[in-house]
Amino acid sequence: MPCPCGSGEEYEACCSQYHLGTANAPTAEKLMRSRYSAFVKQEIAYLKKTTWTAQQKHFDEAGYRDRAANSIWLGLTIHATEDGLETDTRGTVTFTAKSMINGSIDDHTEKSLFKKKIGKWYYVKAVG
Ligand SMILES: [Zn+2]
Repeated sequence: MPCPCGSGEEYEACCSQYHLGTANAPTAEKLMRSRYSAFVKQEIAYLKKTTWTAQQKHFDEAGYRDRAANSIWLGLTIHATEDGLETDTRGTVTFTAKSMINGSIDDHTEKSLFKKKIGKWYYVKAVG
């Protein structure tokens, strides 16, 4: 099965290993992609685990669960990345996540900030 993140790879060779915890996303873009595919796969624990640790206490697990379950996911487009490579400790990814919720199309475009701590990338917040 192709990975929902749109990489063109099989799910097992792509985001599945991050969702299972057998590997860590090596770049901010891969973390972003794996978080999108976590919505598709309803891997809510992964969304929490990859949120910047200081912000996990504010993570609205029920809200994310509802959003993931009630959406039809239509695709992810990465528009731009700044830094966020394997040698970086921070980076941004600008993307559009397209979904249908309650019968209407939602194009969620966001520039997200990611930071790396002890070899793992985390989603910090939207910065644009
Ligand atoms: Zn993937």
